[in-house]
Amino acid sequence: MDQHTAGVIRVRGTASQALPLVLDSPHSGTDYPEDFAHQADPSRLRSAEDSHVHDLFKGALDRGAVMLDALFPRSYIDPNRAQNDFLPASLGAAEADHLPFQLEPTVKSDLGIGLIWMRVPPDGEPMYPQPLAAATVLQRLAGYYQPYHAALRECLDRTYRTFGRVFHINCHSMSNQASAMSTQPKGTRRPDFVIGDRDGTSCDPLLTQTLYEFLTAQGYQVTINDPYKGVELVRAYSDPVHDRHSVQLEINRRLYMDETSREKNSDFEKIQIVLEHAIDALAPLLHTSGAKTAQ
Ligand SMILES: [Zn+2]
Repeated sequence: MDQHTAGVIRVRGTASQALPLVLDSPHSGTDYPEDFAHQADPSRLRSAEDSHVHDLFKGALDRGAVMLDALFPRSYIDPNRAQNDFLPASLGAAEADHLPFQLEPTVKSDLGIGLIWMRVPPDGEPMYPQPLAAATVLQRLAGYYQPYHAALRECLDRTYRTFGRVFHINCHSMSNQASAMSTQPKGTRRPDFVIGDRDGTSCDPLLTQTLYEFLTAQGYQVTINDPYKGVELVRAYSDPVHDRHSVQLEINRRLYMDETSREKNSDFEKIQIVLEHAIDALAPLLHTSGAKTAQ
């Protein structure tokens, strides 16, 4: 049965789980909270969404995986950032003193796409009319970010207890061309798929290699760790030495949707099937022995 946490997250597939496989989609949510007091044109915020990604991987659910997805939008708060990836200058005077941790902004915050997006895509105008209060950051962490992380950790831990190992695919989509808020020059064209394993540190290399070989054999252009290596969700929960394997998969939105209307295109079901077959290609990895409990 589906589990919902008050409009914040959705977990599917726990009752029918047959594989040591957990997928998560942190950026496909479209429920914009009423207290999201931005000054952006709402249609422009939608380009931050990894639209339909939770639907694209329906085949993995059919095969016996578990899937978690965020229902809230990534521009409100991003579960795929460290909770302190935030610029002090984005807060009002002395507000940082009210946070129970030190801020450590990365280049993502510099670009306006840290924990809380401070710039509006694609050109980077200010998201808010004034700096944020610490209370706003803490409320979004407690109400959205932390429940997402807790649910993902629970899915991964439960799978690990049952199967003795866990494979985690962190699912995303990317615009076909880089915006002004990218680490790449504006207009840089993206490949069809990008697999990120944090330079080979977040999973068994066979996981990366199997996905790469399957997708390239279908005729797709695939890169590894370029330009996306995997960020917080892959970093936080991977521990390949202890059979916890995480990989990030980015899909070019051009393959399955119209980036202007955000509607699925006529190839959507074809890409769903490609991804279902990609899960099938992982079968030798997923079915290796090692279960801790009698099956
Ligand atoms: Zn994403």
